[in-house]
Amino acid sequence: MPTITRIEVYKFNIPLQAPVTIAIGTIEEARNILVKIHTSDGVYGVGEGAPFWMIVGETQASAYAVSYDFAKLLIGKNPLDLEGCIASLDRYLAGNPTAKSAFDMALYDLAAKYAQMPLYQLLGGSKRSIVTDETIYIATPEAMAADAVKIKERGAEAIKVKLGTNAKDDIRRIAAIREAIGHEIPIRTDANQGWDYVSALTVLNTIADWNVEYCEQPVKHWDYKHLARLRQQARVPICADESLFSPQDAIKLITAEAVDYFNIKLSKSGGLRNAVKINAIAEAAGIKCMIGCMSESRLGISANAHFASALQNVVFYDLDSPFEHAHNPILGGVYYQNHYEVILPDAHGHGADVDADFLQRMESFVVEA
Ligand code: MG
Repeated sequence: MPTITRIEVYKFNIPLQAPVTIAIGTIEEARNILVKIHTSDGVYGVGEGAPFWMIVGETQASAYAVSYDFAKLLIGKNPLDLEGCIASLDRYLAGNPTAKSAFDMALYDLAAKYAQMPLYQLLGGSKRSIVTDETIYIATPEAMAADAVKIKERGAEAIKVKLGTNAKDDIRRIAAIREAIGHEIPIRTDANQGWDYVSALTVLNTIADWNVEYCEQPVKHWDYKHLARLRQQARVPICADESLFSPQDAIKLITAEAVDYFNIKLSKSGGLRNAVKINAIAEAAGIKCMIGCMSESRLGISANAHFASALQNVVFYDLDSPFEHAHNPILGGVYYQNHYEVILPDAHGHGADVDADFLQRMESFVVEA
């Protein structure tokens, strides 16, 4: 039986090309954590967590701190006992899904390497065509329209637009984008909890005829009542993002008949193990899923893409965070073809690793048996 012998944890900082703004804040740099789990057989797995503090309540510093305790708990354990390893983290500490997702991802990478399979195969699926959308962040309507023109020229099949400041400006944003690029390319909107019910209804019923596929998280994450009312009264389908972390949230949202779609992110769910469960609950309830991202590098995106490829109920793809990064320190993993096609590698595991020279410059610790 293999055992976990050594765990390295890094503060994994990647500069952005420019700051990005959504309704609840601005980020200037991807401040992620990277976890490398080594076994007694000389095999290792790598995982990345991207703590988006306004959403998950974790920072890089908090994720780094709890990772020390997680590493101590896992040393000496059988890495192929995914259930046991992940349950031990959950028993020890509530919450902290992003830090947990980095460990979960590294363990799944290891399990797929032991099975000598790409991760999508370990998850029971196949390699499917995945085309990501590209996100336009909050700015003036004119600047957002100019971004939309560039994205259209690059050949995007769908555009995600960040909204959620106020109804009047948000309607102007979508109007300016439609004016600039026409109506052919579907728009996915995301208010990141920025509206109240009345603003949400006003915006969504104004833009409903402008080829809008759905709206993510129009109101606060706890506000199931207004999510359900919007689902009845807005002419744009509603997608849960910040309301959906765990499999238990999925059951609650379904019971409340609150939304049409789920946006799954490994950084919210605690990793692949729960993401698979959330998707299964959704599928059984007739709810299609989207795979989303925070500010992961191509490494975290690789694990997300394997998940999306394996599970056919995942039909919307928002895997564009590396587009914002000023550096690409990732070796292997998924790559982008014709800008938006996400191509999965055939390597065992998720297939991605980090350039050792880049990692060496990052603050880190090691826990060993
Ligand atoms: Mg969202």
